[in-house]
Amino acid sequence: MNVAFFGAEGKVGEALVPVLERSGHTVHGFELGDAIDVRGLDAAVDFTTPDAAPDNVRAALEQGVSCVVGTTGWRPELLGELARERGLKLFVAPNFSIGAVLMMRFAAEAAAYMPRAEIIELHSEAKKDAPSGTAALTAELIGGDPVIHSVRLPGLVAHQEVIFGSDGQLLTIRHDTTARESFADGVLLALSKLAELPAGLTVGLDTLL
Ligand code: NAP
Repeated sequence: MNVAFFGAEGKVGEALVPVLERSGHTVHGFELGDAIDVRGLDAAVDFTTPDAAPDNVRAALEQGVSCVVGTTGWRPELLGELARERGLKLFVAPNFSIGAVLMMRFAAEAAAYMPRAEIIELHSEAKKDAPSGTAALTAELIGGDPVIHSVRLPGLVAHQEVIFGSDGQLLTIRHDTTARESFADGVLLALSKLAELPAGLTVGLDTLL
C-alpha cells in the first residue's frame, strides 16, 4: 500500500517506518509543518500528538484517505462521523501491541474462573502517569476493582503482570514490551484489514483478532 505516516520522525515513527517498508508498503513521511497532501494514497497512519492528530486525520479523511491512528489522548469519535459520511475507515487503537491485547483478553477469560486478582504494571521512569492506560483497561475488563501496583524504574520498558490467586494455586499472565517495534504487527494488521472494516470509527486491536 501507499501509506502516509504522520510523525514519521517520532520515536514510534522511527521504529515503525522501516518495518512497514520491509513489509512491502511505500511510506510517505509527514512531520509538523509539512503541507498535508495525501490525495491518492491508500491509507494514513498517525503517531503524533493529541493536538496534531485530529487535524491530520480530518485532512486525510477530507482527501478521501482512511486512517489508522495510534496517538492517544484525543477523542476520535468526533471524526468517526466524518469518516462514516464519506464511506471511509477510521481505525484507532490505544495499544497496537498484539501481545498486550492478548494478555488483556486472556486475563478477562481467567477472571471468570479466578476472580481474585492484582495487577503489577512496570514502566521506565520516563512515564509520568500511573496507573498505565493498559493497566486501567485490564482492570475494567477483569472487573472486581483489582489493586494496581505501578513500578517506575530505569531499565524497564513496558511490562505488566496480572496475578490470579485462589486456594492452593496462582496463575500469572505477563506481557513484556522490549522495543517500540512491538507496535508494528498491530499496525500492519490494521492496514491489511482496513478495507474490510465498516465505514466510520472502529476502536481497539481486539476487534481485528
Ligand atoms: P514523539 O516521539 O513525540 O513523536 C511524535 C512525532 O510527531 C514527532 O516527530 C513530531 O514532530 C510529530 N508531529 C507533531 N505534530 C505533527 C503534525 N502536525 N504532523 C505530523 N507530525 C507531527 O512521540 P511517540 O513516542 O512517537 O508517540 C506518538 C504518539 O503515539 C503518542 O500519542 C503516544 O502516546 C502514542 N503511542 C501509541 C501507541 C499505541 O500502541 N497506540 C504506542 C506508543 C505510542 P516534532 O518533534 O517536530 O514535533
